[in-house]
Amino acid sequence: MDREELAALVSEAGEPSYRAKQIVEAVYRQRVETLEEISTLPQEFRERLAQGGVTVGAARIENKFVSIDGTVRYLIGFADGQSVETVWMPEGDGGEAGDGSEAGEEAESGASPSRAKARSEIGEPIAALKRCATQKSGRSTICISSQVGCAVDCQFCLTALLGVKRNLTAGEIVGQVCAVLKDQKVSPPEDRINLVFMGMGEPFLNYENLIKASRLLVVGVGIAERRMTVSTAGIVPRIHDFGGEAIRPKLAISLNASNDALRTRLMPLNKKWNLEMLLAAAREFPLRTREWITFEYVLLGGVNDTPENAREVAELLRGLRCKVNLIALNPGSGIEFTTPSAERVTAFQNILRVAGIPAFVRRPRGRDIYAACGQLKRTVEVATSPEPQLQSISLAPEA
Ligand code: SAH
Repeated sequence: MDREELAALVSEAGEPSYRAKQIVEAVYRQRVETLEEISTLPQEFRERLAQGGVTVGAARIENKFVSIDGTVRYLIGFADGQSVETVWMPEGDGGEAGDGSEAGEEAESGASPSRAKARSEIGEPIAALKRCATQKSGRSTICISSQVGCAVDCQFCLTALLGVKRNLTAGEIVGQVCAVLKDQKVSPPEDRINLVFMGMGEPFLNYENLIKASRLLVVGVGIAERRMTVSTAGIVPRIHDFGGEAIRPKLAISLNASNDALRTRLMPLNKKWNLEMLLAAAREFPLRTREWITFEYVLLGGVNDTPENAREVAELLRGLRCKVNLIALNPGSGIEFTTPSAERVTAFQNILRVAGIPAFVRRPRGRDIYAACGQLKRTVEVATSPEPQLQSISLAPEA
């Protein structure tokens, strides 16, 4: 429930309106898990709420996997027995942190992605010192899910293999954040937390709940809009709607191919909303001051990673205020594609950069525990050590 719904509940109960604010504060800021814990409410009112069937529906952490790189994958369960995955990525590396949020200090400084990158390489020790002085923890990111499973059927993504089970409610979306914040013992805004809607599901196929959750995250949990990014596979009508929202996270679009034939093969939804429609929506998207659209591009060895593909991408994105996040395929069983070599990834990145498009290589996070992009499928058994093949891939972005 958001503030308006709680206000209605409180007024029906004949209580003063400030009680709604107290409940918002307790549930979303203090992150209580039962009605009993809301000590600002009179005991008698708590009892009346409980008798009326009101409960605090805190999300439950069912399982937790910790990667050698510090990433944590949570399995979070809801009342009906369904579960999703939520990923905690501690501490960025000053460059492209690999967490899907902005590169380096860009969000903080408002500098362009390319300038932020250059500065972060030179000024990182100073920036790190400043952060230590002012904040309890550095830059951490939570990656949250919007649906149980996914209906979009991208050919390189493990979540697609689950199909879609159901949408998450706004409360379940926010609940993932509350559960992780509590478990990690951090609290925004004192701790700098970024959020990416890049977990399981297609956020724009659960649009109403996504928007309601975003508002609750801003108003209730205290995470600023500019610290949140929603990624879509390209549900074009919703990109238009999203641009019109008064409160909204930043936008990322999963491009993943440089022409329609290839994109339709990799992402069947391209039949419905092709590149022309997608890029038209991106060009019309009302960007705020110092805002960019991020395009994600999963690189599949020998499939969409040639110099020609890179030149086509540069052509598609020409003139757009954007940056590109390149993601070398995170492998998984049942996925036919291969991860390209580091040289190939760098070559692709360089072609984009020479064409004037800021391009970053997303560092894989938590591959050993199936927590990386495209690997979320509620895996319960994980290998104890990462495959050597994965470790040998160096993805440090080139200057
Ligand atoms: N459904 C939304 C939100 C998920 S974001 C979307 O598609 O944008 C997850 C990102 O990981 C997307 O950019 C997707 O293209 C990428 N991805 C999917 N499978 C992957 C894999 N196996 N390796 C690397 N990236 C992958």
